[in-house]
Amino acid sequence: MSPEIKLWIFRGALFVASCLFLLGLRALTSAETARRGMWMAAIGMALGVAGTLLHKDVVSYHWIAIGLVVGTVIGVPMGRWIPMTKMPERIALSHAFGGAAVALVGLAEYLHRGNTLGSFGMGAIGFEVVMGAVTFTGSLVAFGKLQGTISGKPLGFRGGHLLNAILAVACLTGIAILIARPEQTVVFYGVIALSAVLGVLLVLPIGGADMPVIICLLNAYAGLAASASGFALDNQILIICGALDGGSGLILALIMSKAMNRSFRNVLFGGVGAGAAATAGSGEAKPSREASIEDAAELLKIASSVIVVPGYGMAVAQAQHAVRDLAGVLAANGVNVRYAIHPVAGRMPGHMNVLLAEANVPYDQLFELDAINDDFRQTDVTIVVGANDVVNPAAKSSPSSPIFGMPILNADQSKAVIVLKRSQNPGFAGIENELFVQPNTMMVLGDAKHTLGKLSAAVKGSHN
Ligand code: NDP
Repeated sequence: MSPEIKLWIFRGALFVASCLFLLGLRALTSAETARRGMWMAAIGMALGVAGTLLHKDVVSYHWIAIGLVVGTVIGVPMGRWIPMTKMPERIALSHAFGGAAVALVGLAEYLHRGNTLGSFGMGAIGFEVVMGAVTFTGSLVAFGKLQGTISGKPLGFRGGHLLNAILAVACLTGIAILIARPEQTVVFYGVIALSAVLGVLLVLPIGGADMPVIICLLNAYAGLAASASGFALDNQILIICGALDGGSGLILALIMSKAMNRSFRNVLFGGVGAGAAATAGSGEAKPSREASIEDAAELLKIASSVIVVPGYGMAVAQAQHAVRDLAGVLAANGVNVRYAIHPVAGRMPGHMNVLLAEANVPYDQLFELDAINDDFRQTDVTIVVGANDVVNPAAKSSPSSPIFGMPILNADQSKAVIVLKRSQNPGFAGIENELFVQPNTMMVLGDAKHTLGKLSAAVKGSHN
């Protein structure tokens, strides 16, 4: 194939891929079109890769083939066998890999053509390795926190903000020195090392319930790093892809920090939730009221309005189909059933929406926090399915709580509450929940899927 034809195919593939990314992202904004959006983005990515393989600078396909095999061997099992409940950890790892890849590309470009890069190219590579290294180590810490190998509590220290600011300024100074004197290899390695330390220090002080915001931010950093990589390599598809990822990640982080009532400045400088110590509860533990399936069924039989609050436990139990079944039984009895979705319920943005959509719960029964929070007061029964932090009244009433200030679903205000979980253990933030000891709350302990199945049968049976 002549070089001209290759060039036109290359440009055409990248143009179509860019359009598909934009259309795919647009389609992802609605649950009805999300699946189509994913396909568009996937086809766009395949076109981008195929087009890039035709680039004139590719002189040999050996290393590319080896990379493809290694990536496939790692990626396919990760995609196929990691359970839904481990998705957040998988996403954190993917961000870490993405950050490492971008930083390594930057390092290779620097070693390959450091002295001929020019100011713009050197600046782009500097930004690329800083963001790549921050994303790499930050995402590894996020992975550890989600996995439970690193404490989920805020691990901040006095002067942490100042140290982070000093490290950020040192990295920027390093980039400025490299633009003027690109041959200063030691400065280049120094910038990478400081960025790696900065990534750790930015994520360690993020505690408990604030993790979703930093995960969105790390997503944005990975995108921005890829975009900078595109500038350094003069690769438009990387610039577009990275900018879309970086831009949407930043917008999501802004939306999440607003939803969590946290200052975005604090998120950026690694201080969210660092002010309050994570406590395992204060004072004497009050007893909660354990109830049987039959007690809960009796309550549901006389209810005319029910709100279901799903949380991470629903994902663990894979109870979304059982939830829909119970809702169907209740609806058949004339009960008005709705679902209240907290923006950080579960372990990834949109986690509950994805699970409930999988169980074919009609989208118009799902209500966001602001849309439903005032209705709890008039609701007969709230069924809390494996949710904990997102219904913890300490966020409203306890200034010393690490989740203080975070908006929660007002389950505590409904006339009666049925909580489905396995034990009295706390949720992700590691704090006790006053909701569970309220006089109008009954705890039905056990795996949520199992309990819901029995509850459906009990409610159905009593109406037959
Ligand atoms: P929580 O993690 O606060 O609580 C989940 C509850 O589910 C636990 O208390 C657990 O209790 C229960 N549970 C676990 N397994 C089962 C099961 N098989 N059956 C029944 N119950 C079960 O979840 P929430 O959704 O309320 O809150 C999410 C938390 O995660 C927030 O703190 C949020 O900030 C954080 N987070 C969210 C992310 C996101 O993007 N959405 C990302 C990272 C963190 P027990 O063990 O007693 O059963």
